[in-house]
Amino acid sequence: MSLASLDSPASAPHDDPVLNWTHRLTQLGPRFFTPLQPTPVSAPRWAARNETLRAELGWPSALFDDEHLQAFAGNSLMVGSQPLATVYSGHQFGQWAGQLGDGRAIWLGEAESAQGPQEIQLKGAGRTPYSRGGDGRAVLRSSIREYLCSEAMHGLGIPTTRALSLVASPEPVRRETMESAAVVARVAPSFLRFGHFEHFSAQGDTDSLRALADHAIAHHLPECRERAALWQGNLYAALLDEVQERTAKLLAQWQAVGFCHGVMNTDNMSLLGLTIDYGPFQFLDGFDPGHICNHSDHQGRYAYGRQPNVAYWNLYCLAQALAPLIDDHDMTLQVLEGYKNLFPRFLGDAMRAKLGLVGDLAPESERETDWTLVEDVMQIMAAEKVDFTLFWRQLSQAVVMQSTVSSLTDADWSTVTDLVLDRPRLLAWLSRYTERAGPSHFAAMGQQMLRSNPKFVLRNHLAETAIRQAQAGDFSEIDTLYNLLKSPFEEHPGFEAYADLPPDWAGQLEISCSS
Ligand code: AMP
Ligand code: MG
Repeated sequence: MSLASLDSPASAPHDDPVLNWTHRLTQLGPRFFTPLQPTPVSAPRWAARNETLRAELGWPSALFDDEHLQAFAGNSLMVGSQPLATVYSGHQFGQWAGQLGDGRAIWLGEAESAQGPQEIQLKGAGRTPYSRGGDGRAVLRSSIREYLCSEAMHGLGIPTTRALSLVASPEPVRRETMESAAVVARVAPSFLRFGHFEHFSAQGDTDSLRALADHAIAHHLPECRERAALWQGNLYAALLDEVQERTAKLLAQWQAVGFCHGVMNTDNMSLLGLTIDYGPFQFLDGFDPGHICNHSDHQGRYAYGRQPNVAYWNLYCLAQALAPLIDDHDMTLQVLEGYKNLFPRFLGDAMRAKLGLVGDLAPESERETDWTLVEDVMQIMAAEKVDFTLFWRQLSQAVVMQSTVSSLTDADWSTVTDLVLDRPRLLAWLSRYTERAGPSHFAAMGQQMLRSNPKFVLRNHLAETAIRQAQAGDFSEIDTLYNLLKSPFEEHPGFEAYADLPPDWAGQLEISCSS
């Protein structure tokens, strides 16, 4: 027996925990969190169990037995866990929002794993002192989206919090309509956000701010120690620099795959540069730099094309929060400048990879001309809102095909040119591309492109189908999607429909913050 029932707190923890807990976060002390218990839900059922992640982490299969269903529902506690909710603040939609905090994510602790210590949170496990007006719950709809998208991002090679399990309950939850509850168990080395630092900085509590920064460096970002050499030994400038670089890399990856986060508030920005807090996110269907995926975002602050600048703005907030520690205004600005150089480099590299131009085929001297090639093709796509995922995948396939023919004709590109109305413009671009790449490299390039341009992304309509079936009691579509999305660069014969253009009804889907 490894579980303590919440109904009988008297039952002493047993000594055979399924996980080995470490809990380094709790050493920070009570200013950083409030210990509390999850609130039980009625009649929990497994909606998904991520066996792949469990095995990757080296966690035992007993974690997913029926006894642990109760633990992942928040109805009992795993022995050794120390549930709590952390406090943070943040800027929401460009305004200082003051104190926020884990309003419905309950931190169970940090457990050892084959990939180093991992923190586990139950999202939707009940009210906390930071819930403000909220009910502390998450609905099944948005929990399915978070579960699948976390794993889709990981499959794409993009840093993210992971999803370990999804538990559904018939418990009613009021949003625009009545829905049902779910609890996602999510996993990450650390759930620290920019907002945690903003919180203590805004309070003028420099001791806590320093303790938090020291905790982050010691346990999660030890590379800052080496990086400090670049900043006259200033460890906190190095911390900002490390986060700045990770964020630049993350944003380049988001942009390159057409991912729109939807709510890039500073409390939704991970210190480790992970994608975190999946809400109204969307993978672009038709390419539109101005696309807004969150229908509550009336100004389009978080439109796809604005994400890189918003990330910079958010880093500026983090820099302000760390200012008392860095204690050198000019150096802080200089660290932030790094983003302006790094982001375009990372994006350039990611887009070159989409074109198959990597390694020897992507010399420094070609960087500028390659970027022009990228910009020009993006303009063609934007002019007609060409489907983003399909275009890059078809281009990859076409390059593979071209490598088998001795001389190229325009007709050989038809799978790509069929995607646009303005064929002459695209053909002119294709001929520049061919000239730049050299057809003799097409075989190698094509293989590289198939590893850079996914066949499957979690389009809204795919998630919606899984949601509708799950709401009717059938969770199988979640697993089907999961299996495609965890290896999105593979062909998965028989599942072509999942890589198709969205159906007409998908245009009516509206995704808001209310999750
Ligand atoms: P989000 O926009 O999801 O990042 O949430 C912003 C803040 O509101 C965070 O502090 C969340 O924990 C909190 N929050 C969101 N939804 C709820 C809810 N249903 N109940 C309690 N707190 C919530
Ligand atoms: Mg959030």
